[in-house]
Amino acid sequence: FDFITEMEEDEIGKLYSCQKKLGEGCFGTVYSGIRKSDGFPCALKVISKEKANQQGAMDTILDEVYILQSINHHNIVSVYDVFDSENYVVLVLELVTGGELLDLIAKSTLNEEEALFLFYQILTAISYLHKNGIAHRDLKPENILLKKDSTPHIKITDFGISKVVNEQKLMKTICGTPLYLAPEMLIYPDQGYTFAVDMWSAGIILYQLLTGVTPFNFSFFPNTPFEIQSFYSKIDFDSNSLPKISDSAKDLVRNLLKVNPNQRLTADQALNHPWIKSNREKLESLNS
Ligand code: ADP
Ligand code: MG
Repeated sequence: FDFITEMEEDEIGKLYSCQKKLGEGCFGTVYSGIRKSDGFPCALKVISKEKANQQGAMDTILDEVYILQSINHHNIVSVYDVFDSENYVVLVLELVTGGELLDLIAKSTLNEEEALFLFYQILTAISYLHKNGIAHRDLKPENILLKKDSTPHIKITDFGISKVVNEQKLMKTICGTPLYLAPEMLIYPDQGYTFAVDMWSAGIILYQLLTGVTPFNFSFFPNTPFEIQSFYSKIDFDSNSLPKISDSAKDLVRNLLKVNPNQRLTADQALNHPWIKSNREKLESLNS
C-alpha cells in the first residue's frame, strides 16, 4: 500500500489501517479498512490526483466530495470522512460486502419481482440524489453494491465524483463502456447534462435486470441524428432468447430509454409508473 506511506504524515494513517484491495477503477483503488480507535470496518477509496490529471479541477473535486458527506440514504453508500493530501484524495466509505450487482445479474436470471425490488431501490436512491442536486453520472451495475443479507438490499456507490474527476470525454475514451451512457453524452460530449442522463442509465439497468443482457449492440457508433434515432429505438423484448416480461415493465423501460432527454421520465415519474406504483407499499416495507 504505497499510498499509506504517502499518507503517513497525514491524519489518515493514524486513524485508519488498510486491509485488502476490493476494486480498482479509473482513478482510484478501493480497499477495505478499519478505524483504529474502535475497529469499525469501512472502505477506503483512494483517488490519485495525478491520474485524475486535472490539478486545476481538484478544488472543485473537494467541494463536491464534501457535499457527499451530507448524503444520507438507505440505498446509498455513506461517505464518513474525506482526506486531502498532496497526491491523493481518500474517501472513507461505508463498507458493503455482498459484491456488485453485475455479479448477481451474471450469475442468474432474476424474475420480474426480484428485478422490481432491486430497481425500486435504485430509483429511490436516484430520486434522493437528484433532489439534493447531485447527478450520479456513472450508474451501472459495477457501481451498485449488494448488502450481505437475505433480501437483496442495494447501495449505490461512486456517485457525484465522476462529474469533476472525469471530463465526459475522458470517461468515454478511457474509463469505459458506452453501454450505460445516454445518447446525448455520446453525441455531444462537451455539453452540459441534466439529471436525465441518470434516467437513461436506469433504463439500461432495468432492461438488464429483466433480461440479463444490455439492449444495444455497439458494433458501430451511430453518428447522424437519423442513425441515432433508429439505433436507439430498436429495443428488443421479443426474441426467443429473452425471458417473458410484462407489458407494464416494457412500458417503463421504453419511457426511460427515450433518446430525447426531455421526454425521458424523471426519477419521481418512474416511481409513479404503474409497474412500481401498484406495488409501492410492499416495496417500501421490504426496503425498510
Ligand atoms: P471507480 O471510480 O474507480 O470506479 P468505485 O467507487 O466504483 O471506483 O469502486 C471500484 C470498485 O470497488 C467497485 O466496483 C466495488 O467493487 C468496490 N467498492 C467500491 N466502494 C465500495 C464499498 N463502499 N464497499 C465495498 N466495495 C466497494
Ligand atoms: Mg466505479
